[in-house]
Amino acid sequence: MHTRDTLKVNEKGHLEIGGADCVDLAKKFSTPLYVLDERHIRNMMRVYRETIANEYGEGTVLYASKAFSCKAIYAIAAQEQIGVDVVSGGELYTAMQAGFPADKIYMHGNNKLPAEMDYALDCGVGTIVVDAYSEADYLDAAAKSRGIVQKVLVRVNPGVEAHTHAYVQTATPDSKFGFSVQDGAAESMIAYILGKKHLRLAGFHCHIGSQIFEKESFVLAAQKLLAFTLKIKNTLGFEASVLNFGGGFGVWYTDEDEQIDAEGYRSYVRALLETVKKGCTEHGLKKPAVVIEPGRSIVAEAGITLYTVGAIKEIPNVRKYVAVDGGMFDNPRYCLYQSKYTPVLANRAAEEPCELVSVAGKCCESGDLIGVNMNLPKAQSGDLLAVLTTGAYNYSMASNYNRNPVPPVVLVNEGKAEYIVKPQTYEDIVRNDVIPEYLKR
Ligand SMILES: *Cc1c(COP(=O)(O)O)cnc(C)c1O
Repeated sequence: MHTRDTLKVNEKGHLEIGGADCVDLAKKFSTPLYVLDERHIRNMMRVYRETIANEYGEGTVLYASKAFSCKAIYAIAAQEQIGVDVVSGGELYTAMQAGFPADKIYMHGNNKLPAEMDYALDCGVGTIVVDAYSEADYLDAAAKSRGIVQKVLVRVNPGVEAHTHAYVQTATPDSKFGFSVQDGAAESMIAYILGKKHLRLAGFHCHIGSQIFEKESFVLAAQKLLAFTLKIKNTLGFEASVLNFGGGFGVWYTDEDEQIDAEGYRSYVRALLETVKKGCTEHGLKKPAVVIEPGRSIVAEAGITLYTVGAIKEIPNVRKYVAVDGGMFDNPRYCLYQSKYTPVLANRAAEEPCELVSVAGKCCESGDLIGVNMNLPKAQSGDLLAVLTTGAYNYSMASNYNRNPVPPVVLVNEGKAEYIVKPQTYEDIVRNDVIPEYLKR
């Protein structure tokens, strides 16, 4: 377990997060329940913001809100004086409803809908990251009709792709994201945008992957983007004043992953910033504003999910299933990517694990598992099971499969716990259902 001040086993032998005993949380809020540690989220936002401010100067941290989006997280990001990125009209709407300053919002997406681009312009979104010719055309015309000039970046594919623990590879040009810097596609796109009167190109954006542990990946991406910046300066006479390197910093899910602390994350950003500084000196470029967009590393380890253990089924010589009151509707990541997690029996957290079990959800899919071969003390019906590191890409990927309500989210800090997303009710689930008249007869 990757424990910290705000995530540990307390003197009762219960798991404690943000000063709140998980057994008490389950009693008060019921299960399944997402719990988020406010202090951890704020610490991570600060680590990124301060590293850029103190060690580089001009730049911005954007919280990549697709990792976890609801009004409260935008309120926290605003208080911590960072920006956010959004990738859909729905995320943008949520940010606006939270009162987030539009000029500090970046909008991404490989296929932004016309309605989403109109909405972004009407909100006054600060920067839009263009990822298609059709978007450049649409945005230019839509900005013109509003009498404005929209600041944009171009999404490029620097030819670096990174995966968890895998070596950096030269990415194939096969990606639905970005324009390749290697085959001239990015250069053509930049020339095209420079010809648009109502778009003001500020620079380039790339995002090389997610759950990346190798510093070298970020360094390589930065080197490639700087070399590209120089090339574009020489060929098109355009010098980027903003370089956005995306997110992707890795987090601890199980003991197969590194445990990175605040200083560790700072060193990732530092490596990136040093590469930019060095590259600018070497190539004679002006120091651009540096933007990073961490999502997972801000919220993932801040979050846990609490479940109540229900049915237990032992299949002799095969495996033991421990079923919980959640599943793929609150955490589809095992189904999607066979993601690994660490479970803790939250009401008996001091006991040594003694058996390998598969933790199953309650959905009608054999693949509805939270994990296989998970190491636990002998679980019994009624035990409280915590799954760690579920703050990112869990709630944001939740569904109503089998018409299960999406669990609520509580924010904990210094022992206090408050809803930031209320429980869905059955009434909520049928809210938009309609029975046409002819079916009523
Ligand atoms: C997903 C994404 C991020 C965040 O990635 P994390 O791995 O969650 O840090 C940042 N920028 C872009 C463009 C993304 O698509």
